[in-house]
Amino acid sequence: MSARRKPARAARRRRGKGRAAVRPFRLATWLAVLAVAGAGLLYGSGWDVASIFPDDRPPERVATARPSPAVQAARPTRPPDPAPPPGPAAARQPREPAPDAAVSRPAVSRPALPETAAPEPAAVPQPAPAPEQPRWLRHAAVGQPPRGRPMIAVVIDDLGVDRRRSGLVAGLPGPLTLAWLPYARDLPKQTASARSAGHELMVHLPMEPSGAADPGPGAMLTQLPAEELKRRIEAGLAAFDGYVGVNNHMGSRFTEDRAGMSVVLGEIDRRGLMFLDSRTSGRSIGYALAREMKMPAAARDVFIDHDPSSGAVLASLKQLETVATRQGHAIGIGHPYDVTIDALREWLPSLEARGFVLVPVSTIVRSRDGAVGATRVGAGPS
Ligand SMILES: [Zn+2]
Repeated sequence: MSARRKPARAARRRRGKGRAAVRPFRLATWLAVLAVAGAGLLYGSGWDVASIFPDDRPPERVATARPSPAVQAARPTRPPDPAPPPGPAAARQPREPAPDAAVSRPAVSRPALPETAAPEPAAVPQPAPAPEQPRWLRHAAVGQPPRGRPMIAVVIDDLGVDRRRSGLVAGLPGPLTLAWLPYARDLPKQTASARSAGHELMVHLPMEPSGAADPGPGAMLTQLPAEELKRRIEAGLAAFDGYVGVNNHMGSRFTEDRAGMSVVLGEIDRRGLMFLDSRTSGRSIGYALAREMKMPAAARDVFIDHDPSSGAVLASLKQLETVATRQGHAIGIGHPYDVTIDALREWLPSLEARGFVLVPVSTIVRSRDGAVGATRVGAGPS
């Protein structure tokens, strides 16, 4: 009996062993089938990682990138993100974004986060700006014009290129009006030093002469179109800051040209600056046209060193006093010559004792409201 049952038990044990070996195999097969079916569903429905975690979702939505609780606690609280699109809506999205969506999505959504988190200061409402003084008055060297005494303005042109003599001129008693060639080097530093010494500043804009002389780079030329003139003016006026306006370097031809001068004066006026006509030509229309345009303007009365000899310079300074006595004001233009610097060093401190007052050009323009420079003494160099 037992001997017969033993083989039966052994057979059951063998069948049992066989079943036990089959079960893990079946489980693994089913898991594999489920995994393949699940992947097929995901693929067939159009889902991919990008559609589940779009670019504009914070990275903590990705489980593997979830930061530690300490990092999450350290983050500033932020309004909750809008709810993610439900599964079916995400499933309808194309797996490859359209080209324009690919371009626009990072540009729109990503920078928007810091902007909404920290509002720009410009968003704060500003009070209406107070009406400003024109630029030429803001940069004027002296406040109120003196009363009862003839005013003399001394303008020194052609500054900036000869730095040593420019420095000597800036060291003279002031206030002088110092006109700087815009193509000189290191003008912000040179002019700031002169301005802090109490002098007034001008841009000495090169203009075409009637002769063969070279007015230098960036000059106003009669054959240039208006757009090129404007470009050159813009470049010249950008050489430094703090000036009251512009006077012409050379320009005996250009200042006779109404079309060209209309462009130049229009640009000067548009920027709130004044114009000083150096009057290098007796037929210059600069000052008259500026008055026609109702912009602040003046014109030279005397060239101080047209003849650069000591005797001639002293005679010109005497002539400047005569004109000032006659019309109440006079504008003299000189250059950074040694003879001029030496003469001015002697003459300037004695002016007040002889009843004159030294002023910058802007003071004469302001006191006369433009009715300046009726007298012209001689024709200047072209
Ligand atoms: Zn000049």
